[in-house]
Amino acid sequence: MSQVLQQLLEELANGKLRVIDLTQPLSPQTPLLPLPPQFNNTPAFKIWELSHYDERGPAWYWNGFETGEHTGTHFDAPIHWVSGKDLPDNSVDRIPPRKFVGPACVIDISADAAVDANYLLTPDRIRQWEEKHGRIPAGAWVLLRTDWSKRKDPKEYINAKENGPHTPGLAQATSALLAKERDVLGVGVETVGTDAGQAFTFDPPFPNHYLMHGSGKFGLASLCNLDQLPPTGAVVIAAPLKIVGGSGSPLRVIAITP
Ligand code: MN
Repeated sequence: MSQVLQQLLEELANGKLRVIDLTQPLSPQTPLLPLPPQFNNTPAFKIWELSHYDERGPAWYWNGFETGEHTGTHFDAPIHWVSGKDLPDNSVDRIPPRKFVGPACVIDISADAAVDANYLLTPDRIRQWEEKHGRIPAGAWVLLRTDWSKRKDPKEYINAKENGPHTPGLAQATSALLAKERDVLGVGVETVGTDAGQAFTFDPPFPNHYLMHGSGKFGLASLCNLDQLPPTGAVVIAAPLKIVGGSGSPLRVIAITP
């Protein structure tokens, strides 16, 4: 066996390495991204019982379920956005599985987001972070810690006012920097989508989706427990369902961390 894999198993067994669950529970109560009413919205998660050790199946329990691809903690593939529609390997079933494993760079803007729900991560903040922790490597997940997942009331989590949702995200120039100059795997966030709540008013609308997916990069939305990760040194495993032609999927995201 590879020494590295042997050591990985040993350190998982003796607790030197921990597995952190970055995934929110998936249920009919899972909060959904609200799009303006002229657009189709993602359906809520639906689950129904097929049998429960009863006459419908005496020795087994199982359910059926129905979900949107972008419901709950989920993966965004490049084909999700018009800017990525013609890229190779752009749907979840065709992404090379090598890309489902990568190092995490965790950028903490929770203090800013607590003061300003519309706070946007600036390129300057990226550079400040890099001065302290080193350059964001190619193939990294950039995880935006906002502590937004600690908002347990769905109303506070979505934070919708008359003029749409108010949640933190990335400035357009930051998405461009990460996609084009850092060659990241993608951006992961604690909010319901990888763009800021007000990003439907930006030009182009939803610039993080536009720039990331147009550059073949991915997204992770509705993450949690980012406060349990170090700024660098954790590895993220995020493998979406192999939906043929799929634009994304709910998934279990885990991080292995010292
Ligand atoms: Mn999505």
